Amino acid sequence: MGRNEGGDNDRDVYAERLMRHGAPKEGFPRLGTEARVAYQLVHDELMLDGVSRMNLATFCTTWVEPEVHRLMDESLDKNMIDKDEYPQTAELERRCVRMLADLWHSPDPAGTPGTSTTGSSEAAMLGGLAAKFAWRERRAAAGKAADRPNLVCGPVQVCWEKFARYFDVELRQVPLSGDRYLMEPDDVARHCDENTIMVVCNFGQTFTGLYEDVRGIAEALDAFEERTGHDIRIHVDGANGAFVAPFSTPDLVWDFRLPRVRSINASGHKTGLAPLGAGWAVWRTPEDLPEELVFQVSYLGGHEATFSLNFSRPGGQVISQYYDFVRLGREGYRRVHGAQLETARHLAARVAAMGPFEIIHGGDPDRGISAVAWRLVGDEPFTLYDLADRLRTRGWLVPAYPLPADRQDEVIQRVLVRHGFSHDMADLFLDDLERAIEHLRGHPPTPSLTRDEAGGFNHGAGSTVLPPDS
Ligand SMILES: *Cc1c(COP(=O)(O)O)cnc(C)c1O
Repeated sequence: MGRNEGGDNDRDVYAERLMRHGAPKEGFPRLGTEARVAYQLVHDELMLDGVSRMNLATFCTTWVEPEVHRLMDESLDKNMIDKDEYPQTAELERRCVRMLADLWHSPDPAGTPGTSTTGSSEAAMLGGLAAKFAWRERRAAAGKAADRPNLVCGPVQVCWEKFARYFDVELRQVPLSGDRYLMEPDDVARHCDENTIMVVCNFGQTFTGLYEDVRGIAEALDAFEERTGHDIRIHVDGANGAFVAPFSTPDLVWDFRLPRVRSINASGHKTGLAPLGAGWAVWRTPEDLPEELVFQVSYLGGHEATFSLNFSRPGGQVISQYYDFVRLGREGYRRVHGAQLETARHLAARVAAMGPFEIIHGGDPDRGISAVAWRLVGDEPFTLYDLADRLRTRGWLVPAYPLPADRQDEVIQRVLVRHGFSHDMADLFLDDLERAIEHLRGHPPTPSLTRDEAGGFNHGAGSTVLPPDS
């Protein structure tokens, strides 16, 4: 229907054809409709999504300043790959890489190779590929076979499982034993050999928010090299920690200050505070990024080096990330993350005081990011899954999930305290948590299958069980 057809384009939107007949769902719609009608329909459908800021499962940005909304709108048409067409967007990306190289103590920030990505997953693929190619080169130079690469890590985010499967690398995940939640330095050496392309350290582990001891692991690999002659590089998965530790605990050594750390990935759209779709991969020196991974592109005009999995990609995220760096500086990031860590500690103290929980991580900045993770230790007539279900009735999303092997019989629950989650919101959540516990004590759920037995949580292609929305 044309805009002026019948002269009634200001007709009530809910009296329009689309609203009276329902949304197109199957075949491609034959007719279109007015923009205002289509907008209202799509807008209304999205009311069924949860409130992102009450999703305490996600690490990702759910609140940004109004200026970021404006910049995102203004850069809707900027394609990150057209570096010749949009040279200033490309320049902002280069500045961000230099700033991150400086923040993470690269030996030569001005000459450090790095790139923006769509997130840590793409950055992890690039870090893994660089390690695989470099290992293959070394093997070829030594006249040795390079057909059985492996990578060693603790319990990792699913992106590393993807990397291993997509790029044909054996994933050697150190199982959790005893009361461990992380890969520890003394775990590493016995899983490494001449075919280990790298060790991936979790700096801000997905399950708990805890930091692995990168320095200790580097020392263990130094000792391994002395014993065996195998020089194994470290890639730090700093998806969430790489934007926290430099500000909150600057003396914690986990980055390029350790010569064995050759590459780092980080999610700009998590603790980097940029909108969704921003990630970073940075290498220690140009030698750590094999040349074969870098493509020279000339068909957009000019000659540009690119190393990424995507071609076209929106530029607004990088532009907003640069805004964040300029807007906040080190001092601003320290304040933002400091406030979140404070709120996390407050939340942990009240959760602990409720009685039946043991805090695994409670926002201690020396141990991890602003997350709180707990286990149920009291004798209660409900599980953490029941508690998660109950909290959902108030709109809170707080995942409960089993630990990775070999502690998969234990269930934990985790809250991410993010930018925009204030002390007041924490108190509202805590009051609801108390009410949920009281309710479940008064109305114990009928004992039934655990999620695991019911197969409703933990099935799927991969072997790693991950918290949802991580
Ligand atoms: C979130 C996360 C990833 C994946 O990052 P995306 O930016 O979502 O692609 C990888 N590793 C860790 C530790 C994470 O927390």
